[in-house]
Amino acid sequence: MNNSDKIYTLAVAGVQRLIPYKAGKPIEELERELGLTQIIKLASNENPLGPGKKALEAIASALPELALYPDGSGFLLKQALADKYGLDDSQITLGNGSNEILELVARAFLTPEHDAVFSQHAFAVYPIVTQAVGATSVVVPALNYGHDLDAMLLAVTEKTRLVFIANPNNPTGTLLSQSSLAQFINALPDSCVCVLDEAYFEFVNDVEAIDSIAWLNDHPNLLITRTFSKAYGLAGLRIGYGLSSPQMADILNRVRQPFNNNSLALVAALAALSDDEHLQQTISVNTQGMQQLVEGFKDLSLEWLPSAGNFVLVDLKQAGLPIYEALLRKGVIVRPVGVYELPNHLRISIGTKIENQVFLEALTDILADVR
Ligand SMILES: *Cc1c(COP(=O)(O)O)cnc(C)c1O
Repeated sequence: MNNSDKIYTLAVAGVQRLIPYKAGKPIEELERELGLTQIIKLASNENPLGPGKKALEAIASALPELALYPDGSGFLLKQALADKYGLDDSQITLGNGSNEILELVARAFLTPEHDAVFSQHAFAVYPIVTQAVGATSVVVPALNYGHDLDAMLLAVTEKTRLVFIANPNNPTGTLLSQSSLAQFINALPDSCVCVLDEAYFEFVNDVEAIDSIAWLNDHPNLLITRTFSKAYGLAGLRIGYGLSSPQMADILNRVRQPFNNNSLALVAALAALSDDEHLQQTISVNTQGMQQLVEGFKDLSLEWLPSAGNFVLVDLKQAGLPIYEALLRKGVIVRPVGVYELPNHLRISIGTKIENQVFLEALTDILADVR
């Protein structure tokens, strides 16, 4: 070990074992590397329509105020979310992306003596926030690529302070039934916090059937997280939120940085909430695009996992990484999922009709060459 590497041995043991989160390749980076100009990115489950007009207008109007600190309480946005969901604003926590809410709950509840339970193939941020505070990740094998709730319940011990559940899950797109989730939460000991990550809930077909918010009444240990990054098209601004009991929100608020949400994010999210037209258009583009990709996979005799989100996992029946790289050379960025223990799959975010078509044509060419 050379001298500079010794620093690794000083890091928290769980951090030494972490593999850094690898984000979707930015368009600018691929441009620099390959000198391509026409690049499409279907790699990070972003909204292919971009932000809505109302959000963009709100951002423009707020620019002259940028010298001032934002409203650290996020009063107006919390009020709007409370109205939307029939909650009290004391039940809402705003985060710098919903990822920050995941980090807040880990910092508030986990210690090196505790563990967090989550599923194989679940969102990559769960081990990061868990191990960053020295706690232990307990990974439960997936069932048909989704969460095995019975096995997860069995994995909960008196050392378990958190359970993370992504519904729909990223990257697999699997969706748990509301009844199985309700059963799980009822059976979970009240010494354990259930984090229900609903980053993609707006895309769920039968969205009216999602009644997780009703469970908050009986479960002070439930934290639901949602985001403006996906359906609302504001990923670049970093804003998400937690819905919970007032007591849980109070705890998260204690560890939160005073100005964690920037002022542009706050006004844009508020405007986006009232832009139902943009949301509906987003959902409709997603539904059509999902159909288009699935038809394309059928034509290529490829299998895919039915997805409730704005992305789909395609099974290439061969290593995904070389196909990912070949797609890059054609200017199409998708997401390899080897770090999720899915080396033969690629995750494709649903794009516009043209983007989906460009991707399918590139994939067709590549597979014709390798087959
Ligand atoms: C994208 C995503 C998030 C959060 O994204 P933010 O941009 O931090 O709000 C959370 N959970 C899952 C499963 C996701 O895919």
